[in-house]
Amino acid sequence: MDDGPARFQRLSEADLPEGDVTIKVRYSTLNYKDGLAVLGKGKIVRRFPMVCGVDLAGVVESSQSQEWQPGDEVIATGFGLSELHPGGYAERQRVPGEWLVRKPASLELSQTMAIGTAGLTAMLCVLALERAGLSPEQGGEVLVTGAAGGVGSVAVALLAELGYSVTASTGRPETRGYLKELGAAAFIDRSELATDSGRLLDSRRWIAVVDTVGGTTLATAVKQTHYAGAVAACGHVGGTDLPLSVMPLIIRGVQLLGIDAVQCPLPLREHAWQRLARDLPLAKLDSTTSYGNLDEVPQLAEKIVSGQIRGRLVIRVD
Ligand code: NDP
Repeated sequence: MDDGPARFQRLSEADLPEGDVTIKVRYSTLNYKDGLAVLGKGKIVRRFPMVCGVDLAGVVESSQSQEWQPGDEVIATGFGLSELHPGGYAERQRVPGEWLVRKPASLELSQTMAIGTAGLTAMLCVLALERAGLSPEQGGEVLVTGAAGGVGSVAVALLAELGYSVTASTGRPETRGYLKELGAAAFIDRSELATDSGRLLDSRRWIAVVDTVGGTTLATAVKQTHYAGAVAACGHVGGTDLPLSVMPLIIRGVQLLGIDAVQCPLPLREHAWQRLARDLPLAKLDSTTSYGNLDEVPQLAEKIVSGQIRGRLVIRVD
């Protein structure tokens, strides 16, 4: 793309960017962020022209890196992909070897993209909550907002599998059956959390929260969190502001944890992928996943940005 909505263009070998590993891309994904980038919104792309796609999975074609050999199956998510470095919506891509994660043996390449940046983010939220002291033995409800979206769906499936009682917040009542199958035990309508109570603290309800929405929803979730509970904040589909006082933090000791999957250091990234391979039930992952082809990306981008996509969307590249 140059600087507006993305379009298709044939590129040559000479157009491949800098990097020491060339990959035959098999799959990419469409995340909310990709939708914004493809439509030329949200200032995601920071250098033009750009190949969009924040995720890719494929097979190493050639490598100058000691770490990687032709034939290795690899995953790249985040770092500069689709922002400063060309991304996954291309049949071949070249990246620095240190951005790559080896495909966990128990996952198919397509399943790694069913996980993608969204699933990695969900796992990073769970890991942050665990570091903050969360454990299933505590009992009580864990809230996931934007539950029927990509990050939310994987978070619901992971937390339920780990033994938590998950309450899913969704604005789409028709997704409740799907969320129940992923393991949601209870539901709360999106609008309840998006309404400001006007109070500094609300009645305690959640032992922990995975929030993909931001804005008033995040503020309400923090105000409703139990003493010493934790809230992992990763998204902003409902707004970038945070209308919140410090009271939940200093009266209830609530921990507000920022999550970043883009620049996440490699050791934590590799650990998160191992945990995903271990903890995410593949049947549930498959039920969250739908597929599209590269030529459908522009229409699908419109859909994800208007909140019409359920779960994860894998893009077949080859
Ligand atoms: P999706 O579009 O797949 O899911 C977002 C979900 O949020 C929707 O499905 C919908 O869920 C809900 N939603 C949509 N619009 C609104 C609204 N106006 N108010 C409240 N809820 C809304 O997006 P992703 O799961 O890919 O990403 C979620 C967020 O996480 C995004 O903001 C994204 O940028 C961020 N993100 C951050 C990362 C990081 O490193 N911090 C990495 C990856 C994503 P429902 O229908 O159930 O209500």
